[in-house]
Amino acid sequence: MRTTILRVSCCALLLATGTVVIAEPRDVHPGFTVSMAEPSTHYLHVVMRCPATRGRDLDLKMPSWTPGYYKIMDHARHVVGFRAEDGQGRSLAWEKTTKNTWRVRSRDVDSVRVSYDVYAFARSVADSYLDDSRAFLSPTGLFLHPAGQLRQPVTVTIEPAKGFARVSTGLEPVAGSPDTFQASDFDELYDCPVLVGNQEVLSFDVRGTPHRVSIVDRGRFDRDRLVEMLKRVVEAAVAVVDDVPYRHYDFLLLGEGMGGLEHRNSVAAFSKIPNLDDPKDYRGWLGFLAHEFFHLYNVKAIRPIALGPFDYDRENYTNLLWLSEGVTVYYEDLILNRAGFLPRDECLDRFREHILGYETKPGHRLQSAAQASRDVWLYFLRPGGDTANTTISYYDKGAALGLLLDLAIRHETTNRRSLDDVMRTLYDVYYKKERRGFTDDELRRVSETVAGAPLAEIFDVYASTTADIDYARYLAHAGLEIQLAPRKLAGASLGASTRELEGRLIVAGVTRDSAAARAGLSVDDEILAFGGVRVGAKALADELRAAAPGDKVRLLVARRDHVREVEVVLDPSLEPSFRIQPVAHPDALQSQTLDAWLPNVGGGAGHPSQ
Ligand SMILES: [Zn+2]
Repeated sequence: MRTTILRVSCCALLLATGTVVIAEPRDVHPGFTVSMAEPSTHYLHVVMRCPATRGRDLDLKMPSWTPGYYKIMDHARHVVGFRAEDGQGRSLAWEKTTKNTWRVRSRDVDSVRVSYDVYAFARSVADSYLDDSRAFLSPTGLFLHPAGQLRQPVTVTIEPAKGFARVSTGLEPVAGSPDTFQASDFDELYDCPVLVGNQEVLSFDVRGTPHRVSIVDRGRFDRDRLVEMLKRVVEAAVAVVDDVPYRHYDFLLLGEGMGGLEHRNSVAAFSKIPNLDDPKDYRGWLGFLAHEFFHLYNVKAIRPIALGPFDYDRENYTNLLWLSEGVTVYYEDLILNRAGFLPRDECLDRFREHILGYETKPGHRLQSAAQASRDVWLYFLRPGGDTANTTISYYDKGAALGLLLDLAIRHETTNRRSLDDVMRTLYDVYYKKERRGFTDDELRRVSETVAGAPLAEIFDVYASTTADIDYARYLAHAGLEIQLAPRKLAGASLGASTRELEGRLIVAGVTRDSAAARAGLSVDDEILAFGGVRVGAKALADELRAAAPGDKVRLLVARRDHVREVEVVLDPSLEPSFRIQPVAHPDALQSQTLDAWLPNVGGGAGHPSQ
């Protein structure tokens, strides 16, 4: 049940004397109006009405980050033109007390009306955007909240720009009030982005619950087929936990661009409609949306204790993004397989890609999955420095850990239980019953209870350290083997990536412990010549292909104003494999495990083969 919100604008008091006195307008709960009268300026206008407490000033705060986007964004920097008044339009004094706190001198009034503009012109899923084609409202960067009072119901009225016909959002509409929505508290408001414009809206039902697909970039595609495909994916994702914890779900598809951000009953995703006749294209699209959709379980409901309720002022630390993100990557593949879109061999190939992504990063010797989770605030969307050599992706390692956990549980229970049981138990116990996130220990305890066996190697070693992973032993549970030895390629390796800049060949990255690193090559060096031959990117690649491991080559290198010659001893050129394939003669349990874990589906865009 959601709280019905009263928006009391004023009331008349009949005093004992019989005199009617018009009281000061009073709001019971915070309410917002967002308008966008001049889209070409990219400014959204926000009016907030908020009750005040006599004798106290009112601190209003803007979140510094957006859940799911683990980076301090300082949304307050886009707020301009802040004004404060009392309920009768009299100006109130205010001051900024921190970078994201506005203190309104409201001790003598019962309600406050503040207004401000928000510059909205960044195309990301965690920023607001406004132009003459659409408005995307990212609520954490738009709505202030009274400090310490996040648990209040809120209403939002949208005033679309002229020519904008529709409002799409996961927020609950207020009956009888067009374009007005309510949230049971600020956490819900901050988790419900809003798309305003002329988007096309398709829909389908799963388990009697409506799902809407709002598409910004209309085009020519088979709507029925697209909806049918997405519906199959949603059905497979819902079946993992076997519960629908929302009243409606909104896919907000924002057209070309990068990234998606999960929410409790919606997703905002930059996404082009795929070619429905190209399996690679539609599998990529469905996998992306399966990932974001499954997050409504894994991270929104099934969540580490640090990830909700949130502290919007500062970083919220967890060791478990490998579970929240990496295991969601793992499920993205499983869901596509279960929906009939991803054949077994393609699925195994995806697992290989995740393992490859982890194993080929030099940082896998330095950073554990738990550390990568905790340090996300240092690295998220912040390339540069030596991060390519010193960090890993918790997406890749987490997907590998999900695979290990699933196979370990299946093995320990002779295939009677799986990682699905862990997800369901976490959902039932911590989300539904205790209504909270879980600790690292609780995750381990649930996993070990489901497995009926200790899982120390996974939790104490693979998730918490940089120790080598014994993939072969776990994959053998499903009758699979993994090719660990790399393939030797022709030619030799320098161990440096390059980019061309105005005709110059610049070192973009130096792999740790490589030939280039041993020779003292540095990022930003310009390679003038290789073995006496002037080279660009293509010529360098040709030279390396013609060389042999152990060759000593003189490189002419410019570093700022100096030119120097260095000798490089080239490395073998190796192509890592990690190819996963079925063993020739699996035993009965191995076959049964593989069939139960990864059904051998056809993978077409028609109906699933099973
Ligand atoms: Zn994700």
